[in-house]
Amino acid sequence: MISKLKNISLGNWMLIGMVLGFIVGLILNFYVNDPFIKDTLLVNNIFYLGGTGFIRLMKMLVVPLVFFSIVVGVASISDIKKIGAIGGRTILIYLVTTALAVTIALIIASIIQPGVGLNMAGLTQGTVTSNATLTDTILNIIPENPFSSLANGDMLPVIIFALLVGIILAKLREKTQTVNNFFTEGNEIMLEMTRIVMKFAPIGIFCLMAKTFASLGFDGLLPLAKYIGCVLIGLAIQAFIVYPALLVVFTRLNPIRFFKKFISVMFFAFSSSTSSATIPLNLEKLSELGVSREVSSFTIPLGATINMDGTAIMQGCAVMFAAQAYGIDLGLSALLTVVFTAVMASIGTAGVPSVGLITLTMVFNSVGLPVDAIGVIMGIDHILDMVRTAVNVTGDAICTIIVSFKNKSIDLDIFNGKKAPDKTWDDITQF
Ligand code: ASP
Repeated sequence: MISKLKNISLGNWMLIGMVLGFIVGLILNFYVNDPFIKDTLLVNNIFYLGGTGFIRLMKMLVVPLVFFSIVVGVASISDIKKIGAIGGRTILIYLVTTALAVTIALIIASIIQPGVGLNMAGLTQGTVTSNATLTDTILNIIPENPFSSLANGDMLPVIIFALLVGIILAKLREKTQTVNNFFTEGNEIMLEMTRIVMKFAPIGIFCLMAKTFASLGFDGLLPLAKYIGCVLIGLAIQAFIVYPALLVVFTRLNPIRFFKKFISVMFFAFSSSTSSATIPLNLEKLSELGVSREVSSFTIPLGATINMDGTAIMQGCAVMFAAQAYGIDLGLSALLTVVFTAVMASIGTAGVPSVGLITLTMVFNSVGLPVDAIGVIMGIDHILDMVRTAVNVTGDAICTIIVSFKNKSIDLDIFNGKKAPDKTWDDITQF
């Protein structure tokens, strides 16, 4: 029996936590009228402790995880001069596609309005305000004192500082090898810590769901389903409309040929929920599509670190979901702040399972949304993580093809199936 339980994957435990929390919450909502047991004992003590405790654990990870991940990602860019020519173009396309992705998510979520009907304002202690202006946000990305930004969890200046440290490490190479090793190992520590914290996710999700549904009852169900719908629609638009359109506009290549070859990479990303682990397969399929290794071996690992269009779509929908649930009207400047911060969050999201949820806290913070709402969407995040990772890796590949096309580093005969790929990937294991 115990060994059978051990075989259940973490994702499934999270799902079990969500379903049980939902059932317990509904039972409390409908059948328990004793306010001492329901509210005093369970909702405001036990579930509050388990749920808020877990959210605090997640918040604990954000600053060091994002900081180390960016420093290591940027520092690993091999030869700064060599990549100079394609580097700028690649980064620009990565950032623009991510901004487009969040914008699509915000539009869809403002049409579908997933959070309407989920009245969460009464569930959170403290006042809820949204007072960010875009000029403040832009100005605030320049750290006056990086250490106080780290200490206060001001993510944008932290990201800028991390980018600078990473660029300088990449430039100084051997001279700074010790510090480089420190950051690489620090990154490993944070990834391991994330894995450990995530082991508690099923309990945290159970408590958060039970607490929410004990107060909301069945009213909470439809918004959650609408939220899932929003994210999936956004992901489908990005993958099957935006990417093919970009491919046609910038290269005139046939998107169907691309997807026929690439679908296996999407499946792998879907089942593993990690862009990083998908790097070798992504490289292999791109070389089968005629993309030169010189470009892809730079753009794909970089994309797996900084380009997360699928994650940005989830974050855009989550922000709207929470704002609607709390009855907060996000004005234009707050929405622009969300786009900007979600692009930054995408840079700071490591390509491993669930990290998008952790960096979501920084997007919420940027416009003053209470992070408690993350607890509600967390239970169903595993399946969305799978789908968005498939979109993340597709975005990396599409941008790579566009960059190689502009750089004349793609063999169009191979892409169009008129010629077999020259070599097979025998050295992909280095990634
Ligand atoms: N699992 C995603 C990836 O690896 C990141 C995330 O959104 O959590 O691309």
